[in-house]
Amino acid sequence: MLREVKSLINSLFLKELIKGLMLTGKYLFSKKITIPFPEEKTPMSPRFRGLHALRRYENGEERCIACKLCEAVCPAMAITIESDMREDGTRRTTRYDIDLTKCIFCGFCEEACPVDAIVETHILEYHGEKRGDLYMTKDILLAIGDNYESEISKRKETDAKYK
Ligand code: SF4
Ligand code: SF4
Repeated sequence: MLREVKSLINSLFLKELIKGLMLTGKYLFSKKITIPFPEEKTPMSPRFRGLHALRRYENGEERCIACKLCEAVCPAMAITIESDMREDGTRRTTRYDIDLTKCIFCGFCEEACPVDAIVETHILEYHGEKRGDLYMTKDILLAIGDNYESEISKRKETDAKYK
């Protein structure tokens, strides 16, 4: 009986509502821990591994020599490579695909590559809206590499200092 009376008084004086509003008020003027993304961004670790890219040498020649080490080391079996011999006797990929829906962004492909061809960039703002959108083909990977080469080469130089 006493409990019911207490509960009735609490309801009448909106005790729970006032408690809730007081809690809201407490956080209204405190320091915010959220940020208005994408205008503002949180700091990113230099070791962050994002979207992949295939790189070229300065003369435009693609670095990848189709050794398939990245394909062999990939624990998620996300990389598919096909290759052929060119007229000049060098081997190059005819197909280099990464299925990002399988990739776990471990970075093994980048570590295994003997010529620094496949790298992971800092790019995290990408998405897919339909099946196949996250299937990166060689042309897409090379285009990303071309767009971000200056940034990638700077990072590679920094990484080399700490090796
Ligand atoms: S980051 Fe790891 S999982 Fe993704 S493609 Fe490279 S080796 Fe495979
Ligand atoms: S990206 Fe590197 S590891 Fe992969 S096939 Fe090309 S050269 Fe070999």
